[in-house]
Amino acid sequence: MAAHAKAQLSSGIVDMFQLAAYAVCENNSRGRRFKESSPHHRTEFQRDRDRIVHSAAFRRLEYKTQVFVNHEGDMYRTRLTHSLEVAQIGRAIARILHLNEDLTESIALAHDLGHTPFGHAGQEALNRCMQDYGGFEHNLQSLRVVDELEEKYADFNGLNLSFETREGILKHCSLSNARILGEVGERFIKQQQPSLEAQLVNLADEIAYNSHDVDDGLRAGLITIEQLLAVQLFREQYEHVVRNYPDLPQRRVIHEVVRRIIDSQVSDLVESSRVCIGKVKPQSITDIRCANDTLVSFGPGMKQLNQELKHFLRSALYRHYRVLRMSIKAEKIVSSLFEVFMNDARLLPPEYYRKVASEKSVNSVAGQARVVADYIAGMTDRYAISEYERMFNPMMST
Ligand code: MG
Repeated sequence: MAAHAKAQLSSGIVDMFQLAAYAVCENNSRGRRFKESSPHHRTEFQRDRDRIVHSAAFRRLEYKTQVFVNHEGDMYRTRLTHSLEVAQIGRAIARILHLNEDLTESIALAHDLGHTPFGHAGQEALNRCMQDYGGFEHNLQSLRVVDELEEKYADFNGLNLSFETREGILKHCSLSNARILGEVGERFIKQQQPSLEAQLVNLADEIAYNSHDVDDGLRAGLITIEQLLAVQLFREQYEHVVRNYPDLPQRRVIHEVVRRIIDSQVSDLVESSRVCIGKVKPQSITDIRCANDTLVSFGPGMKQLNQELKHFLRSALYRHYRVLRMSIKAEKIVSSLFEVFMNDARLLPPEYYRKVASEKSVNSVAGQARVVADYIAGMTDRYAISEYERMFNPMMST
C-alpha cells in the first residue's frame, strides 16, 4: 500500500480504501473558514456530509423539483432524491477511481442546495429579477447557503464546511464574483481545474438528471417510447431489453432501459477517465489543478450520445406545452413575490425584514434585493405557491 494511503488522517480515522496520490485527502485539505477541533470517529469530509444532511436547506429539497412541480405526483424525482442519486453514482465511481468517496458524497448532497422553487423556470425568473443587483446563480447560492444562510451553530453562520467541499459546490463562477469570493473563487482567476472529486460530481449530476428525466417524462406521458427510439442511447438499450425479455410489462422495460443507460454512462466515464488520468500521470492534487483540461470525462462517443439525448430532452420535454405552462406560472409567482417585497420590505417575515433593515444601511437597494432573493430561493414549490396566494388572493388569510 502506498505511503499516502497508510497515513493516519487528521481526524484519527485510517482510510479504509487506497486513495490515489492525486485524490483529495484530509492531510492536504485547505481547512475550514473558522478553525475547529478535528472530529472524533469520522473524517472531516464525513463531518461536512453530516452537516449538510442535517441542514434545513437539505430538508427543503424534498419539496423542490427540476422539471415537474412537486404536487404533480409522488413518483417524480425531487431535488432531494436527485441529490441522493447523484451521491450514489458519484460514490460508486469515486471508489473505482480511488478518489475520496466522502468528499464526493458531500459535494453531491450539497450541489443543489441553492436551487429556487420550480426548477429552471424559477432560477431564470429570479435571475431576471436580480439583474440590476448582481444576478442570481444557483451554484453561488448553494455556496451562500453553506457559508452564510444556515443559522444553526453557536460559533459561526453557515455550516463551516471544508474548503474542498465548498470549492466543489462552486461549479461555475464569473471573474467578478470569483474576486469577491476570495480563496474559494481563486481557481477561476488562475484558470485551474477543480479536484477530481468535484469534476466527478459534475458528471454524476448529468448522468442522474438525463436518465431520470427520461424516466419521469415517460411516467408523466410527456414523451413516448416511440419518440425516444430516435435517440441512440435509448434505442440500443431498449432493443436489447425487449429482445431478451419479450413479455416484460412496459414499466419494467422502462426501468431496465434507464438502469442500463446509467450503467453504460458510468462504465464509459470510468474507462475514459482512466485513460485521461493515465496520459497526464498526475502525482498530486496540484497536477490535477494545473492540468489543461478536466480528467474525469466521457469518451468522444458517449459525449456525442449524451448530446443527442440532451437535445431530445430540451426539445421534447423541457419545451413541452405542459412544462411551458408551468414555467409561466413559476415566472409569475417568483417575479410577483420579488416585486411586492422590493416595493415594501415590511411585508417580509420579521427575520427577513430585520436583515433588510441591517443590510440596507450598508448596501441600499441591492442589499434588500439580495435578502428578498434569499427568501424566495429558500422557498419550496408549495411554499412559494401558498405565499403567492397569501399575498395576492384577498380570500386567503395572510
Ligand atoms: Mg443537480
